[in-house]
Amino acid sequence: MHIALLSRNRKLYSSQRLVEAAENRGHTVRVVDTLRCYMNIASHRPLIHYRGAQLENFDAVIPRIGASVTFYGCAVLRQFEMMGTHVLNDSVAITRSRDKLRSLQLLSRKGIGLPVTGFAHSPDDIHDLIKMVKGAPLVIKLLEGTQGIGVVLAETNQAAESVIQAFMGLKANIMVQEYIKEAGGADIRCLVIGDKVVAAMKRQAAEGEFRSNLHRGGSSSLIRITPEERSTAIRAAKAMGLKVAGVDLLRSNHGSVIMEVNSSPGLRGIEGATGKDIAGLIIEHLEKNAAPKRKAPPRP
Ligand code: ADP
Ligand code: GLU
Repeated sequence: MHIALLSRNRKLYSSQRLVEAAENRGHTVRVVDTLRCYMNIASHRPLIHYRGAQLENFDAVIPRIGASVTFYGCAVLRQFEMMGTHVLNDSVAITRSRDKLRSLQLLSRKGIGLPVTGFAHSPDDIHDLIKMVKGAPLVIKLLEGTQGIGVVLAETNQAAESVIQAFMGLKANIMVQEYIKEAGGADIRCLVIGDKVVAAMKRQAAEGEFRSNLHRGGSSSLIRITPEERSTAIRAAKAMGLKVAGVDLLRSNHGSVIMEVNSSPGLRGIEGATGKDIAGLIIEHLEKNAAPKRKAPPRP
């Protein structure tokens, strides 16, 4: 296959590993800087231009779209979809999973266990909002946050009220969530490929920190997940429409609940913790699902 890896930086661990895994399996890969793609949407034949030439003849696209470029990145990916190229995760699924509120609404519709979560717009409703999610301690999250930035633990109702007020004053979109204290600063990352959890790791927050993100100093280790957790993770990825996803779970005393579903899961932590060749498994999944070399769609 000839594969395009949509990534802003070919030097990132995950990008490097995907290129390496694809090449090891006899494929060719071109790393394409998402933000350097430009498009002529008006033409009858959807095209993508890149550094003065057309991008064409790819059998598959692996999107690695960072949270800060979701909007433009998904537009580029959509253009590939319009050209009939197979994409690992499609643009609609990525957009869905990037909106924390929309994701939780979709997951709840599928009956998947979630932390008690509320959201409101008006400062006049803060008091009731806090009551609705059963009071402090509470976690307040920026909807567009990632890597644990914009996730705040408020230990008292008063603190929660001032933090929510401050975020609302800044016109930031937030949600308020019950604090799963019993998770003990740990969460579980399940790596889903197709309809399987191929790897799982536990991430433990650093001392004095409740956020377990590796970017926030968390550490990862192997963990055995239960059959229920396995099926919850698969259902969550499916609800988002993601073929490859990093599904994060918290072990609460009302069962394991889904915290979020990531569309461009980082590979370093999970490959390091499990010793598995996740990049290779992703390429293997593509081999099974991307149609053999497509011809350019006929001109209308
Ligand atoms: P991000 O997308 O920025 O990583 P998350 O929602 O995953 O944001 O939160 C970051 C971290 O904070 C999680 O990995 C988890 O360790 C912790 N955390 C988030 N929500 C809760 C919660 N409701 N209860 C307990 N810990 C939480
Ligand atoms: N790389 C981030 C992670 O594994 C996820 C980015 C995303 O898809 O939102 O946590």
